[in-house]
Amino acid sequence: MTTIVRDGPLSGAMRRWVAIILASLMLTVPVAPAASAQIGQPDIIQEHWYHSYATLTLDVNAWADDYPEIVNLLVVGQTELGRNLWMLQISDWSLENKPDGWPKEVVYIDGGHHGNEHLGTELAFLVAEYYIEGWANGEQEVLDVLATTELHILIMLNADGNDQDTRWNINQVDLNRNYDHYWNTCPTTQPGSSAFSESETLANSIYMNEVVPHADLYITMHTGVWIMLYPWGKWPEQPSDWELFHFIRDDVHANISDIPIRNANQGLYPNCGTSRDYGYGVMGYPTFTFETDDEQWLLGTVEALSERLGEELDVMRYLIQNVWYWRARLVVDSLEVEDGKVHLSVSNLGHASTSNATLVWRASDSDYTWWPGGVPIEELDEWPVDSRWSDCWSDGGDVEEAGMVEYNYSIPGCGFGVNATNSTVTTIDLGDAPISSSEGQFYLFYQKRVIDSSQFVWSEAVNESVVEMRTGGSGLLPAPSMLLVFVAFALAAINSRNRKFE
Ligand SMILES: [Zn+2]
Repeated sequence: MTTIVRDGPLSGAMRRWVAIILASLMLTVPVAPAASAQIGQPDIIQEHWYHSYATLTLDVNAWADDYPEIVNLLVVGQTELGRNLWMLQISDWSLENKPDGWPKEVVYIDGGHHGNEHLGTELAFLVAEYYIEGWANGEQEVLDVLATTELHILIMLNADGNDQDTRWNINQVDLNRNYDHYWNTCPTTQPGSSAFSESETLANSIYMNEVVPHADLYITMHTGVWIMLYPWGKWPEQPSDWELFHFIRDDVHANISDIPIRNANQGLYPNCGTSRDYGYGVMGYPTFTFETDDEQWLLGTVEALSERLGEELDVMRYLIQNVWYWRARLVVDSLEVEDGKVHLSVSNLGHASTSNATLVWRASDSDYTWWPGGVPIEELDEWPVDSRWSDCWSDGGDVEEAGMVEYNYSIPGCGFGVNATNSTVTTIDLGDAPISSSEGQFYLFYQKRVIDSSQFVWSEAVNESVVEMRTGGSGLLPAPSMLLVFVAFALAAINSRNRKFE
């Protein structure tokens, strides 16, 4: 985003000025020997000239050729003029899951919605470069991140606009007003003929929905003002997950950078149909627009990019290293079963609050899962990790209506909530579930964040060691043996608590 909405009269003069500065710089600096025949651009050029589509294509392909262990390069669509939308998937691909067995965290980053905001595009590039080169150099922080995290980075969304140094795409559409979240409902400029009318935004939304629906961080990079903007652009009110955004703001300010961090509507101006509001309001991601600088329309920088954007890169490292915390993370401290009722004490290790939380019990020797109220539901073939099922809880709607399974049971609205980094105690009635006579396993079920679009956590098994059974006057008995033991979950929680940014 930007406060400048059309090409100004100075842009041509600025371009010529920076070209002269850069040309003289290049003549006076000895060219460094190429580190590898595969490398795209020499560092001296990359540090001072912003990427064109051609040089970006060289660089991302060189990374994919040189580091196949950690870099997947995909084409996830085309611009309106047919240029490729390059997607980098960066992780330690020798590890399918994290060392503790849980799925890796997922971070989604894009740059270059606005073709004249080159420093935003370059920050997306620098993040990719930091993790790829850090891995090649054996840096422990990077090795740890890539063992536990997938980075999905689309560096240049508006390649057509980038090469013409213009805000718009080739159809003169502002791509960051073209998303399907309250599209064209603000005073706005050139939002397109309809939401997702442009191939670039449509491709980006398809990738979000089909490949990274479960991301716990989405950063979209721009320039215009030095600021980080969280939702909403549409409304001046703070978002539902304000605790999470305020925690990040305060932590960044205390330890890393004084960059202003605000609600987009108040920090900038009302804006609708942005990828940020779509990312949060539709996908349920914690989302920031990272406005890296006030510079626009220049094609290069005298100060080296890695120095100029060093502080911004530090903020990104912090957000990526701590992604485990950017949702609710419930752990069960104690679970006591007494006459079909479950007395539950849970802590939330994450920095987002949760709601619609509950406990279910899956029998290991039958096809049923018992839900609160004692409702047994036949086991689903696959627990849909991306399901959004809040209707069941708010109005007791039936399961069939929610599109989950064919059975027509009514689910009582009996979820509980836990505030960010807090604890709660509750009692859940599991009715006639044969907990004391059959083998089975308790599972937590809750929203990752409190925004309506948030995903639910479906399959976090409760650590057997905290489960106690109490039957009519006979005191505590050991729990029946459980199907699965996830001690690793507690260890993961402890490990992740030590993963703060340094
Ligand atoms: Zn922008």
